[in-house]
Amino acid sequence: MRRTVFNEDHEAFRDTIRAFIEAEVAPVYEEWENAGHPPRDFYTKLGELGVFGIQVPEEYGGAGETSFKYQAVVSEECARAGVGFGGYGVHVNLVLPYLLKYGSQEQKKRWLPPFVSGEMMTAIAMTEPGTGSDLAGMQTTAKLDGDHYVLNGAKTFITGGVLADRVLVVARTSPATPENRRAGLSILAVDTRSEGYAVGRKLEKIGLRSSDTAELSFTDVRVPVEDLLGEEGRGFEYLTHNLAEERLGIATSSYASAAAAVEFARRYVQERTVFGKTVSSFQNTKFVLAECATEVEAARSLVDRCIEALDAGELTPADAAVCKLFCTEVQARVVDKCLQLHGGYGYILEYPIARLYADARVTRIYGGTSEVLKTIIAKDLQV
Ligand SMILES: Cc1cc2nc3c(=O)[nH]c(=O)nc-3n(C[C@H](O)[C@H](O)[C@H](O)COP(=O)(O)OP(=O)(O)OC[C@H]3O[C@@H](n4cnc5c(N)ncnc54)[C@H](O)[C@@H]3O)c2cc1C
Repeated sequence: MRRTVFNEDHEAFRDTIRAFIEAEVAPVYEEWENAGHPPRDFYTKLGELGVFGIQVPEEYGGAGETSFKYQAVVSEECARAGVGFGGYGVHVNLVLPYLLKYGSQEQKKRWLPPFVSGEMMTAIAMTEPGTGSDLAGMQTTAKLDGDHYVLNGAKTFITGGVLADRVLVVARTSPATPENRRAGLSILAVDTRSEGYAVGRKLEKIGLRSSDTAELSFTDVRVPVEDLLGEEGRGFEYLTHNLAEERLGIATSSYASAAAAVEFARRYVQERTVFGKTVSSFQNTKFVLAECATEVEAARSLVDRCIEALDAGELTPADAAVCKLFCTEVQARVVDKCLQLHGGYGYILEYPIARLYADARVTRIYGGTSEVLKTIIAKDLQV
């Protein structure tokens, strides 16, 4: 089906990203997966390519675009090639909106130019060993002491946590109140070179092996008050504001991974011969691919609709929850069926479908589990 969401500029950008992946990523991707992250200088290459600054205002070295569509193009092209850009997604899709929306003029001047060039990589630390879905239950504290906050606690599952230079840490600056468990949370942009800041284990994951996921700990880390993002105590509200964009980002890469799976399977079944015939000649193969292509088309239409809504400032948290829930569930079904069409080779990591399968599992967990999303959708239905 012809898509109307992208124009000529987006398609020219797509060509650039595709050529960059072919030249700079695909040939060395296995090394990144073995190392657990891309080399640090890859991020300065992404900075030179201009992808970190697309949505950053020109006065801070960016391109001043407000549309989400360029990010969507990067997600689609990575999925198409079966690769990832390490901490790119968190840097641009999760952290940047906070810096743009809540950063002061002084903070933007300090942080955005190195953010754009890739000299300052960022991450966001919400999840703790004892609490993930229930963020209001977090235990990390930041107590004001003169002109510094003193940060203590631990975070886990932090994407980009090994290589990040500055991390948005969500911490409790005052106790929750009996009426409101969400009160008293704040966001501090912590310099990872600070004394008492430590990166713990790099976690071994079943998929997304080229992106570093780490434990972090803070022992009396002194964070200058100038590094508080927005107003003290409004952290939870800020987090909920950005969830729609974060979830649409995951939905986009999920549907694109399903589309890539169909393409990998389509090619494979035409080459593989069984009982003297190509696998593509079995009616089952045709039907499975037809079902998968149909599901992908439906997911893509929903993503396109939500991208337009986000750009128009109309995407609600419930819309984004619907989109992420649907696209990640489609991804799970489609990638699994396409792997099945590969037979045993589908289970072997040198085939891209195997990596897609392992990478896909997390999308129903992070950025809001499918169960949590259903509670949001049900609340919107007022049931
Ligand atoms: C690879 C990876 C990268 C990540 N990156 C980051 C990151 O960069 N920054 C960050 O802060 N976090 C990150 N996370 C954490 C992620 O967001 C959490 O894992 C997720 O929010 C779920 O929290 P949890 O793991 O504590 O699960 P839990 O909250 O303990 O959930 C356990 C089970 O209970 C279910 N459940 C929870 N609440 C309800 C409910 N109300 N109704 C029904 N069922 C419910 C869940 O759906 C799940 O099935 C990452 C996680 C992974 C795996």
